[in-house]
Amino acid sequence: MEQYEKLKARLAEIGHIGTSMAVLGWDQQCYMPPGGAAERAEQFATLGKIAHELSVGDETRRLLEGAEAEVAGSDPGSDEAALVRVARRDFDKAVKIPTELVTEMAKATTLGHEIWVKARAESDYKQFAPTLEKLLDLSRQVAEHLGYDDQRYDALLDQYEPGMKTREVERVFADLKSGLVQLVQEIAAQPPIDDSVLRRDYDEAAQLAFGEYVIKKMGFDFTRGRQDRAVHPFCTSFGRDDVRITTRFDRNWLPMALMGTIHETGHALYEQGFDPKDVGTPLSDAASLGVHESQSRLWENIIGRSRTFWNVFYPGLQRQFPDALENVNLNTFYRAINKVEPSLIRVEADEVTYNLHIMLRFEMEKALLDGSLSVADAPDAWNAKMQEYLGITPPDDAQGILQDVHWSGASFGYFPTYSLGTLLSAQLYDKALADNPAIAEELARGEFGGLLSWLRENVHKPGRRYLPADLVQRVCGEPAQSHSYLKYLNTKFRTLYGLA
Ligand code: ZN
Repeated sequence: MEQYEKLKARLAEIGHIGTSMAVLGWDQQCYMPPGGAAERAEQFATLGKIAHELSVGDETRRLLEGAEAEVAGSDPGSDEAALVRVARRDFDKAVKIPTELVTEMAKATTLGHEIWVKARAESDYKQFAPTLEKLLDLSRQVAEHLGYDDQRYDALLDQYEPGMKTREVERVFADLKSGLVQLVQEIAAQPPIDDSVLRRDYDEAAQLAFGEYVIKKMGFDFTRGRQDRAVHPFCTSFGRDDVRITTRFDRNWLPMALMGTIHETGHALYEQGFDPKDVGTPLSDAASLGVHESQSRLWENIIGRSRTFWNVFYPGLQRQFPDALENVNLNTFYRAINKVEPSLIRVEADEVTYNLHIMLRFEMEKALLDGSLSVADAPDAWNAKMQEYLGITPPDDAQGILQDVHWSGASFGYFPTYSLGTLLSAQLYDKALADNPAIAEELARGEFGGLLSWLRENVHKPGRRYLPADLVQRVCGEPAQSHSYLKYLNTKFRTLYGLA
């Protein structure tokens, strides 16, 4: 296994460059002064170039071929076979896109981001349209180089959700949509929930302290991670034993920091839960963005917005914020944090309407990429879909087609992973409870050890060993589906809104 060991060492070096870039990226968003931006961009470019050259170089190719020959006869379920399989997938993807296209894309997205920021601030889609045209064109080229069997969108989707096909997403979304539209309409006919208690005065230091208390209970390991403030909440990892999350505060909107912290901790628990024996290898990573999001959504929504959770944690929250919550009963608070209301902005959407925002983007992306929708017509198409799905029309493009950062970074194919993860969160949760009924009793006591152990064993420890579809099949005994999530939503929100 000499070639295999050498390959493993080389992949570790490439991984170290990636995690070093993650440190620089984290610093950029948390602490770097504005003056550091230009040199930081150069540092990223240099490290990215070195990593790319190492990844696709002749030496890596030779080691990979040698390692493949060495593991050829071994058990396909072994660590060695899994590592070589994942390394081959990464290598093939990396060599398929010509370096000039990678460079052109990097420049276009750096520039595109600046143009988008300005266009959104001025709510002027026309400023952004030529950039969108350019990025769509480059993405089509990327898709052609990567290759696909059925639809061009498959190649882009595969970058974030390996092995997933557009048709499969369409199938899952079609089921989901019919169930959701009905529920949204019934809720919309009810009197709106008053969530003003969440807009009272909440001291930031007290918010931070309560959030840390909750995520320690969840199992976030502060000896192998930390939390800092940033403009946008995110989770990043410098390795299994150093996982960073960030949060932001709004003194007059309690859910922003609290639910954001629980969400990012869901991501962090996944990263802290990879198998120790995989450290330094490409197996020590998430199966896909969808699987990653299944973890954050499970903790944020299924756990963190449940009545069971607040039965235990609400008295502590009241003690933390006596002025704001002393006279607010649990039911009022629970209903407030679960208010359903069709809204314009995806990132602020509730559990019921969120997936409609994703379906809209998925349909728009496919149409833009295959040319059946022109860039010029895109804002009208967006507004028409908003009216159709959510019954509201954006007053301007800043609150419509320009709201998300993704397209300015050419991240076409990314959006579906948010919904795939959301659906998977309910599917996994059902299976966890079926496998270990004691989890429900533990949750009622505010204990999360049983749930976390199940997730560790079934989802976290396998890392990237399996393609997401294979992981779901292995763990749940069925493919990804939407009925677990629809059942979850119907049970929770029909009770909450007093519907049949
Ligand atoms: Zn997330």
